Amino acid sequence: MTTNLLEFDGDGLARFINDLGEKPFRARQLQRWIHRNGEGDFARMSDLAKEFRDRLLGCAEIRAPRVLRSGESADGTYKWLLEVDGGSAIESVFIPESERGTLCISTQAGCALDCSFCSTGKQGFNRNLSVAEIIGQLWIANRELGAQAGAGRVISNVVLMGMGEPLLNFDNTVAALRLMLDDNAYGLSRRRVTLSTSGIVPGIDALRDACPVALAVSLHAPSDALRDKLVPINRKYPLRVLLDACLRYLDRAPRDFITFEYVMLDGVNDTAAHAQELLALVERVPCKINLIPFNPFPGTGYRRSSRESISAFSQSLNAAGIVTTVRKTRGEDIDAACGQLAGQVIDRTRRAGKFVGAEI
Ligand code: SAH
Ligand code: SF4
Repeated sequence: MTTNLLEFDGDGLARFINDLGEKPFRARQLQRWIHRNGEGDFARMSDLAKEFRDRLLGCAEIRAPRVLRSGESADGTYKWLLEVDGGSAIESVFIPESERGTLCISTQAGCALDCSFCSTGKQGFNRNLSVAEIIGQLWIANRELGAQAGAGRVISNVVLMGMGEPLLNFDNTVAALRLMLDDNAYGLSRRRVTLSTSGIVPGIDALRDACPVALAVSLHAPSDALRDKLVPINRKYPLRVLLDACLRYLDRAPRDFITFEYVMLDGVNDTAAHAQELLALVERVPCKINLIPFNPFPGTGYRRSSRESISAFSQSLNAAGIVTTVRKTRGEDIDAACGQLAGQVIDRTRRAGKFVGAEI
């Protein structure tokens, strides 16, 4: 059987190399070749002993998802459509900015949580991505961007904000996170790796113990009544329970605040009264708020809030002392903006189309 080395975090690779009867330093050497140098061919790992390379050729491979399409949008955003085993396709997006370059990656093919304003949710759920499929997105992007000349092509930040709910694919996500942080792999700082969750409370607690990185929580509504409709997982983990988990997370978090994401839906959650309710709700949690203008997709019943409502909403939060930013929507011309990542998912849940925005 051929083992895909992209499935291993540092400890896993060390065990694999140990089982082959090789010295531990070989694992670190190999890990640097694979992840730091983005090398996929054992034959080109020039400082590995020839016999070792031959052994690897006989039993191992470095296999990332296949790139089906990739392309750049007018604003410099770059998107990859990747094939994963089983016929689904997933997407990852690179967003260059002057001070940083952020890669947004997916953790599941589809998503079972069915948030009513999310294109991924509408597609239903197919399956969890493997470690190789999650870290493979960074591996591919690093190789391709690294090969393109010019500044601003370096991945300094990773956000788990693509398709899927990362905390429902916990073990594979954590192994991929460990590789992102590992100095023998991508060496990113914990503060520059952000996991976004819809609010899976046991997952937040488990992440705090296993691998605390920066945390973003998709709030989207200031009351349980509204959040139950927008983010149905709220029925299981309501706001009070979720905010308690955020406070516990802050004990170990690399940043001293939680980022709350809040999608701006016209007439649904964007009034002055909602802003006041939100302020009262988050008062007990050190936080920043990131407003995300809704990105429409075919078949949605929602509209994006007007520029005036977004700016009024953000001003009232800022005036009350909560640092609030408005996410720039980028990559819209290639459907790469938040919530537009669709890929192509075989819906094993057959739930697509169950929720329509107009129900809210
Ligand atoms: N499942 C995780 C992470 C992926 S979604 C989560 O829900 O947090 C990443 C972010 O994009 C979330 O805040 C999500 O609510 C937001 N999002 C989903 N659909 C969107 C849309 N159509 N427009 C704008 N943001 C959207
Ligand atoms: Fe899943 Fe996040 Fe989309 Fe909700 S917003 S359906 S949790 S990907």
